[in-house]
Amino acid sequence: MFKKILIANRGEIALRIVRACKEMGIASVVVHSTADANGMAVRMADESVCIGPPPSRQSYLNIPAILSAATVTGADAVHPGIGFLSENEQFARMVEEHGFTFIGPTPEHIAKMGDKAVAKDTVKALGLPVVPGSDGILKSPEEGLELAKKIGFPVLLKAVAGGGGKGMKVAHGEDDFKSAYSMASTEAKNAFNNGDLYMEKYLTAPRHIEIQLIGDTHGNAIHLGERDCSIQRRHQKVLEECPSPGLTPEQRKFAGELAAGVVKKMGYRGVGTIEMLFEDGKFYFMEMNTRLQVEHPITEMITGVDLVREQIRVAAGLPLSYKQEDIKFNGWAFEARINAEHPETFVPSPGKITRYHAPGGLGVRVDSAIYDGYSVPPTYDSLVAKLIVHAQTREEAMKRMERALGETVIEGIQTNIPLQQLILAQPDFRKGEFNIHWLEKFLAVSQQTAKKAS
Ligand code: ADP
Repeated sequence: MFKKILIANRGEIALRIVRACKEMGIASVVVHSTADANGMAVRMADESVCIGPPPSRQSYLNIPAILSAATVTGADAVHPGIGFLSENEQFARMVEEHGFTFIGPTPEHIAKMGDKAVAKDTVKALGLPVVPGSDGILKSPEEGLELAKKIGFPVLLKAVAGGGGKGMKVAHGEDDFKSAYSMASTEAKNAFNNGDLYMEKYLTAPRHIEIQLIGDTHGNAIHLGERDCSIQRRHQKVLEECPSPGLTPEQRKFAGELAAGVVKKMGYRGVGTIEMLFEDGKFYFMEMNTRLQVEHPITEMITGVDLVREQIRVAAGLPLSYKQEDIKFNGWAFEARINAEHPETFVPSPGKITRYHAPGGLGVRVDSAIYDGYSVPPTYDSLVAKLIVHAQTREEAMKRMERALGETVIEGIQTNIPLQQLILAQPDFRKGEFNIHWLEKFLAVSQQTAKKAS
């Protein structure tokens, strides 16, 4: 087992990994930018190294600085966390070339799944259904338009290098196709330095269902059930749950086994998630994330498996601690993403937290790196806390989430807690009747009603 792990990340996820290291008796090193010198992960880790100024390019994406920090601290493995370099093939390769273990899949698997068009072809060949669309990259807007007419509008133009919903535009018909194409391509070029697009039929009422997977270097691969992440705004997840209220036990088993079969055939090492759309009883592959997910805690709550611990173990070459039949699903879990943003305008709200009180009690977990007096930097993601609840039934879990949200005090900055409370109060949500477009539609209607009233 590793003696010391360097964590190339920040915020709550860096702290999550520090915690796993402590429980495993592994020393931890957290690298940080000058903006995060007072971060909770930095305080909790055994060691920390400042690797640059606030902009990510000069710190959390600065590969030479991270590798130097690993060398000087004598780390033997590097955990990339989520985002930043976690799905960067070159980083994974360089970590290994410098004699450290990369806590994640092989660079080849990262590359294959990182190009979404290649990923689609790969999983299709391994037996997963995919959303109808283009075979790989579109060569021109003209070719795209021809294909869109064949597939039928609306279609979705997606960046092959996409992530976080960027470089994605819907075209409703011939009239707006070219403008959607150029907008998606420009956005992708700016965000990923790669403007290549592919196309999919735009599904009008699907759920976002993702399967948690883990494989080891001994040929084992298992699934840990699904998460329903349909409550989204601008393709960003807001409130997640597991299991999904929209699947039957048979559909759950079918999707889980199908996805586990794919990673087994790939010989995949590490944790990963296959994201699918689910509409009219059918699953369609969307993408595979070759890293830990933000919403991994809800799976941990209902399975009792510590995913970060398993991830570290398989990276060290140990076999999985669990066989498929050992995985039992117990109860229901929700995760509310608490963002530092205005609950109605969604404008980011960085700044100093003047008062903080975390909720507690049975079945409540808070994954967060904030504290009283902490200043949320303006430079990074607005996620400041993940509020996770677990109970025996969906109804009990919703009540518990409402109670926990009500107990939470975060002053000095604005958060989306009122939005989470509003979502939980909606009859459609209570009944589990929603799809990926539900929240945006709900917000549009609420805004209209508010305008009329004023
Ligand atoms: P990213 O990697 O940028 O997050 P994804 O491919 O995971 O992109 O898609 C993000 C979200 O966009 C999905 O969760 C879903 O809400 C929506 N989406 C993706 N593909 C489709 C599609 N073919 N039809 C309708 N919605 C889609």
